[in-house]
Amino acid sequence: MKNVLISACLYGEKCRYDGGDNLVSRLDEIKKFCNLFPVCPEVLGGLETPRNPAEIIGEKVVSNVEKDVTNEYKKGAEIALETALRNGCEIALMKAKSPSCGSGRIYNGTFTRTLTSGDGITVKLLKENGIRVFDETQTKEFLEYITA
Ligand code: SF4
Repeated sequence: MKNVLISACLYGEKCRYDGGDNLVSRLDEIKKFCNLFPVCPEVLGGLETPRNPAEIIGEKVVSNVEKDVTNEYKKGAEIALETALRNGCEIALMKAKSPSCGSGRIYNGTFTRTLTSGDGITVKLLKENGIRVFDETQTKEFLEYITA
């Protein structure tokens, strides 16, 4: 079975900024086909739960109360990458739209739930290191990929 990095909130951990989770609906099925390694980059980077939401603005990550949390996001991304490499994860299933875990589309920095093209800080680093990233809206494609 392949080893797969997964956003901890998709795995059911209550690490989301508001203290909730984003449990992915087909988790039991996914578990049958791969070994999952959950990470929450924002918590690994030193942020507390609950915490203020943040979005990427230019080169920085800034919370809705204008706190610069770029260093925490970068630290969490490094730890998530280390976790993937240490455990031989060449695939990741990450939470869509997040400034850490989003892939291809993320919130645009205006805190208006508006999306723009781009990757979250962690997903960008994972992709730069050759890790294939899916998000939970691509669960069907993800399952096809890991069972091929
Ligand atoms: Fe989920 Fe990623 Fe946000 Fe953590 S950083 S709550 S794993 S989307």
